[in-house]
Order: sequence, then C-alpha cells, then structure tokens
Amino acid sequence: MQYWVETLGCPKNHVDSDKLTGLLHTQGYTAAASAEEADLVVVNTCAFIEAAREESIETVLALADVRQRGARLVVTGCMAERYGDELADALPEVDLVARFGESLIAPTPVTIGGRRKAPDFDLLNLPRPATTAPWAYVKIAEGCDRRCGFCAIPTFRGDQRSRSTEEILTEARALVAGGVKEIVLIAQDLASWGHDRRRGKLGEALEVLDSGGTQPLIELTRTLSKEVERVRLLYLYPSGLTQALIDTILETNVPYFDLSLQHASRPLLRGMKRWGDADKFLDRIAAIRASEPNAAFRSSFILGYPGETEDDQRQLIEFLEAAQLDWAGFFTYSAEDGTTSASMANQVPHELALERLREVSEIQDGITARRRDELVGTTQRVLIDAPGVGRSVRECPEIDGIIRVSPLLPVGSLVDCVITASYGTDLEATAL
Ligand code: SF4
Repeated sequence: MQYWVETLGCPKNHVDSDKLTGLLHTQGYTAAASAEEADLVVVNTCAFIEAAREESIETVLALADVRQRGARLVVTGCMAERYGDELADALPEVDLVARFGESLIAPTPVTIGGRRKAPDFDLLNLPRPATTAPWAYVKIAEGCDRRCGFCAIPTFRGDQRSRSTEEILTEARALVAGGVKEIVLIAQDLASWGHDRRRGKLGEALEVLDSGGTQPLIELTRTLSKEVERVRLLYLYPSGLTQALIDTILETNVPYFDLSLQHASRPLLRGMKRWGDADKFLDRIAAIRASEPNAAFRSSFILGYPGETEDDQRQLIEFLEAAQLDWAGFFTYSAEDGTTSASMANQVPHELALERLREVSEIQDGITARRRDELVGTTQRVLIDAPGVGRSVRECPEIDGIIRVSPLLPVGSLVDCVITASYGTDLEATAL
C-alpha cells in the first residue's frame, strides 16, 4: 500500500507530517511517487487564516479529482481539528476527517467534534522517517497557554503540553545519527517550554526559575548544542527573550533571533493582549547587537488588527526602519472564530489592511536587500542543504533566503565560503 501526504502551512505542520509518515511506514505503507498512484492520500491542512483555509480546501478538492479509483482521501491537521464535523459535511469527497493523533487508516469514516479536549499525546512522540536534508525541525511542545487576541490556536491545539527533555534528546540524537547538522526547535511559544511540566509536577528535574522562566529552554539548548553543530530557536515570544536566554543563544554560535513581535504600537499590542512596544523591542535588539554585531533577526507582523490606526502604521514603519531586521513576514489580520478580536467593533477594512501590508513590505524588502548586500565580501560557514544550495546561521531553512554555491559541494558538509554577490534575499558564494 502506498501513501501520499500533502502538507500545507507552517513548519509545525511539516513536523506533524513527518510523524504521520513515520507512523504509516510502521503500518506497512510506502511513499508513492505521486498522489495519483497512492492508495491513501492525506492532506495535512492549515487553518491559520482565511487564505490558508481556502488553500487547504482547494488542495483537498484537487487531490479528490486526481486520486486513483478506490484510493482513500483523509483530511487532518488544524482544519480537521477545528471544523471536524462541519468539514466532513462540506466535503463529501473525503473519506475520513482525523484529528491530531488519530489513525489515518481507521476502517470507517469518523467525524470529530471540534470541542473535545486536546489530547495529551498528539503526534509529538510518534517516530519519524529519516530525513534527507541535513537539518530538521524538532517540535518540543504542542498548544499554547497564551491567549493573543487574534489567535485561535489555543482553541483547537489546547494548552501547552511540553515533551520531556529525554524524549526530545532521543529524537534529536536519532536525527544527528542520520546526518542532521542543524536542529530547529519549534513550538507555539518556544520560550515557555517546560512550564506546564513544572506545574504538573511530571517529575522533570527543572532548575529553579532564576531566568525569567526560560531556564528549561536554556538547559535544553545548551545540552543539544553539545550534540549537534547548530541549534536554532524559532517563535520566541519577546518577553521570553531574557538576558540569560540571549547569552545562551550567543554561546551556541547561532546568533539568530526569531522574535514573534506582531506589531510595534503599544496600544495595538495591548489590544492583541500581547507584551511589549517599539522601545522595549529596540532595546532588546540593541543589547543583542552590542554583544554580537552579526546577530540576525526575523519577525512577523499583523496588519489591520481591529482598531489599527494610521498612527499605529506610522509607529510600525518607524520601528522597521530603526530595527533593521534581516527578515520579516507580514500578514493581514483575519477574524477567527473563538478569538476575542473577532467580535471587536472597530474592524479594519481588508483593502486598507492590504494597502498597509504593501507599504511595510516594500520598506522591509529594501532593508532586507541592504542587509544582504552588506554581507558581500564576508566569510560565512555554509551548511550545504542540497546540490548548489546552502545556508549560513543567518538563514533559517524554508523561511529565509539561501546561499547559492557550487553544486559540487557535498550535501551535509559545512564549508567556509566567501560571499561574492547578493540578489535581493539570496546570496552567491565561493568555497574558500
Ligand atoms: S503566543 Fe502564538 S500560539 Fe500562543 S496565542 Fe499567541 S499567537 Fe497564538
């Protein structure tokens, strides 16, 4: 029996798909060369915003058309979790709507109510297949204890459930044994990893919190960095970026800071039920650059959150110009069921949000291009991801730009290269 898994959405979903395929292998399935040849077609959906949901539905319908006669079509992931029954009703083409951690090969169609308590176990501890790339995501927790005004994730992924250090190390060691040189740690709220285990007294010997709550992540990062060349941390809630965590990240020699900022205007951030403002963010960025001038920064921002004004937009632009981030992603706000912002009166028209998004994107494109130009002539240690494609510590896989190198450099090797040219987000380099 052969399977095909189509994955939409963020890196966290890609990890889930890895786990799903790992499980299918243990159940005797092998990967099909294409969706058309598979006996089991799985769509791992994204429900983050409306555009992501539309893409998920379009993908399901397209695969329903191309699957071979008799092949089962299964929908899983965030849309399945969030709209189980509704989704099953709306898509009669689908044989099974499966929520997190449920079997994809159940004999009879099962529809799932969206309000059930999130499972404790999810997909986190399922086996995963060997990776062909020299890097891998490792998801260290599921769910989130925060309640940001725009975000529906806690309503269907549940409160945070952290994996144990041992489980994470076991997975990481297997990846390293398979040739992985870079581990990218992910969670909804990475810096809070371990808090629930401490609260739940699950027996983990976590140190007393003397570092603003980030001691568990600090210990994990230090331990992992002794076992793998690069450890990269994604999705850091800005108040979680304590000095102790900054120092730890700098010690690991991957000075890459993915800060989940969402905006720079204090009133708007409070409306989002989030911490911080432009001054606090700029202070932190400046402190990091004072310790490590070569630190790279990424963040993401929402445009058009309810109540957003022209003054908020001005503050965001001023922040972007002052912060000089290497990378930034921009999204228009989407009113999600179950969020506090969905019922707020002062919704911003979508067209206006789009206009603001275009404005900040254009500004950030120029900043990113300049930051990339500044690297020309420098020497960078490049991990070769695929023939002709590599990354330094400044580029996160799949999200940021790449470094083009000679296709003769072996995949998985780390090579010192001089940067010879810059093309917007991408660089070109020659091995020394
Ligand atoms: S921290 Fe992230 S996942 Fe958690 S509620 Fe806020 S936006 Fe959602």
